[in-house]
Amino acid sequence: MSEIIWIIDEVTGSLLAEGLAAEEASALSDDLLPAGREFGCAHPLTVLPPPTVPNEDCSQVPRLRVAGYYHHSLIEGPGRRSSLLVVGCTIGCRGCWTSWLHPEDVGVSAPVDRLADALLDPAYERDGVSILGGEPMQQPEGLLALVQALRARGCTHILVYSGYTYERLQRMAEREPAIGSLLDDINVLIDGPYIEKLATAAGPWTGSGNQRVLVFEAGVPRPWQET
Ligand code: SF4
Repeated sequence: MSEIIWIIDEVTGSLLAEGLAAEEASALSDDLLPAGREFGCAHPLTVLPPPTVPNEDCSQVPRLRVAGYYHHSLIEGPGRRSSLLVVGCTIGCRGCWTSWLHPEDVGVSAPVDRLADALLDPAYERDGVSILGGEPMQQPEGLLALVQALRARGCTHILVYSGYTYERLQRMAEREPAIGSLLDDINVLIDGPYIEKLATAAGPWTGSGNQRVLVFEAGVPRPWQET
């Protein structure tokens, strides 16, 4: 029997169901619930376009190449998240759900200060910001600049997904100091490639059972534990 997860969104009042087939959902909505609509794994299907800066010279401003962002995600970290989709990934996991984000020339190169403003839009509630992709760590300088811009605006919880393991990122940091600075500054790293055959063993916020949720305290990672 497949697992069905029900989530009540206490801000929007929405009832979210993960694991229902479309016909099962519509049968329920006839009798018990108002008409439903498909939602992308408890995060909004609509991706907002990245902020752009027309007619302005921002060539010296730190940038990050991204496809877009959204608010009110309930599956990409603890609580309610504003999430950013970074583009570019050369890791090539079989069965990747976001292959449209792999080319490094999709999306737009957006100034990190505008991205931080958009992710922290006061019109939306959030418990933190999640950064995923694509492979965020393949743009370490821009990613670090974004994390710093988020911190400067008061963001207290930042989670980054990476297809690299923490140990691999530590080795990469020897050549890319920005990766080391990122590992020192973020709150949570969800690490490791997506392994399709381990998808059914995935835990909270992960895509496959090998991925770890590492919580950093004073720069030291420890496995996340549900309280
Ligand atoms: S690291 Fe992420 S984006 Fe890259 S191939 Fe693997 S699952 Fe897809």
